[in-house]
Amino acid sequence: MRIADHISKLGTETAFAVAAKAAAHAAAGGRVYPFHLGDLNMPTVQTVQEAAVRAMRDGKTGYCPPAGIPPLRDALAQDANGKRGTAYSMENVSVQPGGKPVIAKFLMALMNPGDEVLCPNPGFPIYESQIEFLGGKVLPYPIIPAGDRFTFDLDALEQCVTPKTRLIIINDYHNPTGAELSAAGRERMAALIDRYNLTVLLDEAYFETHYDNKADSLVSLPGMAERSVLLYTFSKKFAMTGWRLGAALGPKAIIDIFNKINVNYESCTCQFVQWGGLEGLTGDQSGPKKIVDTLRERRDVAVDILNDTPGVACIKPNASFYLYPDVTELMARKGFGDNYDAFAEDVLAQTGVSFCTRLHFGRPLPGETRRYIRLAFSGIDLADIREGLGKLRRYATR
Ligand code: PLP
Repeated sequence: MRIADHISKLGTETAFAVAAKAAAHAAAGGRVYPFHLGDLNMPTVQTVQEAAVRAMRDGKTGYCPPAGIPPLRDALAQDANGKRGTAYSMENVSVQPGGKPVIAKFLMALMNPGDEVLCPNPGFPIYESQIEFLGGKVLPYPIIPAGDRFTFDLDALEQCVTPKTRLIIINDYHNPTGAELSAAGRERMAALIDRYNLTVLLDEAYFETHYDNKADSLVSLPGMAERSVLLYTFSKKFAMTGWRLGAALGPKAIIDIFNKINVNYESCTCQFVQWGGLEGLTGDQSGPKKIVDTLRERRDVAVDILNDTPGVACIKPNASFYLYPDVTELMARKGFGDNYDAFAEDVLAQTGVSFCTRLHFGRPLPGETRRYIRLAFSGIDLADIREGLGKLRRYATR
C-alpha cells in the first residue's frame, strides 16, 4: 500500500504522546498527577445531559440539516450578539462536530496553496498542522510575557506580514498561555487586520472560561465581524469535550461554504447532541458557572504552589485552564539545559507530575531563551493538585 505524499505534512497533538508516557508510569505502579491533557474531569452540565437524552427518546436520531438544527443556529447567533455585540442571524452560523473542525474548514474555504497564514506561537498545534497539510505557509507570531500577563507581540506580528499574507489566526484567551488582548491591543490588532486586508479565524474556545472580568471580543469592533470567522465550542463551557459540538459564525458567504463542506464530510452534527447544546445555551446557567468557579479555585491553588517552588515563576492567567510557568532556572539547576524531554521524564519518574512542554505548541522561535512547561488544571482535583505540585516543589528544593 502506498501512502499519499501529503500525509507527511499532517501534524498532530503530541500531548497524546505525553498521555502514553503517563499511562506507562501508572501501569508500572507509579502515581500520576495528570496535568497534561486539556480535558475536564467534571460531568457534562446536567441540563444538557437531560435534554440530549430526551431528544434521543423523542426520535431526534436521524440526519438533520447540514448547517445544524435551526433553533440551535438561532440560539448561537443570539448568544454571540448578546456577548459580543454582533448582528448575526442563523444564516451566519454553521454547527460543527466540535470547535476543531472550524480550523481546517476555514483554511479550506479561504487559503490557496502558497498563501501565508499568521499563527500564534506558542499555540494550538492543529493550526500549523492544517495550514501545512492544506498547502499554506505558517508565519508564526510570538505570544510573550509582559509583566504579570502574557500578551500578543504586535510589533513582531506586523514585521511578519508580506504581500502573500492573507489570513490570520487569533486565539484570544490563549492555549497554552492564557494570553488575551487588552482593549488597546484589540484596537491595534483590528487596525493591522484592516491595513493588511487580512481575513481572520478568531478562536475563542476559552471565551467563557474567564475568571475576573467580562471577556471582550475582536468581532465587537467595527468592521471585524465582516472579516472574521468565529470558532465557538461547547467543549469547555459545558464540559462536553467528548460530545463534539461547536460552530463557525461569520459572513453568510463563508458560512454557506462551511455548510457545503459539512455535506461532504459528516453530513450533519449528531442531532440529539445539538438539542442538548441548545438547552445548555438557553436554559439554567448555574452549571457552567459552577465549572468556572471550580476551575478558578484550582488555578489559584496551583499558581500559589508554583510560585513557591524554587526556579519556577508562574503568571496567573485570567482565562483558559492552563498554566505556562517559566522553568528556566529549575531546568538549568537540575542540569537539563534545554532538554525538555529529559526534564519531563525525570519529573514524571520522581514525582508523578505529568505535563506538556513548550515543544508541544509549535516550533520554538529563533532567539528564545526562556523555558516553559504547560500544566492543565482542568482534569485534576484540588487535593491532587496540592499533592502533586507539593511533590514538584520538594523535587525543586532537592
Ligand atoms: N482551539 C483551542 C485553542 C483549543 O485549545 C481547543 C481544544 O483544546 C480547540 C480549539 C478545539 O476544541 P474542541 O474541538 O473540543 O471544540
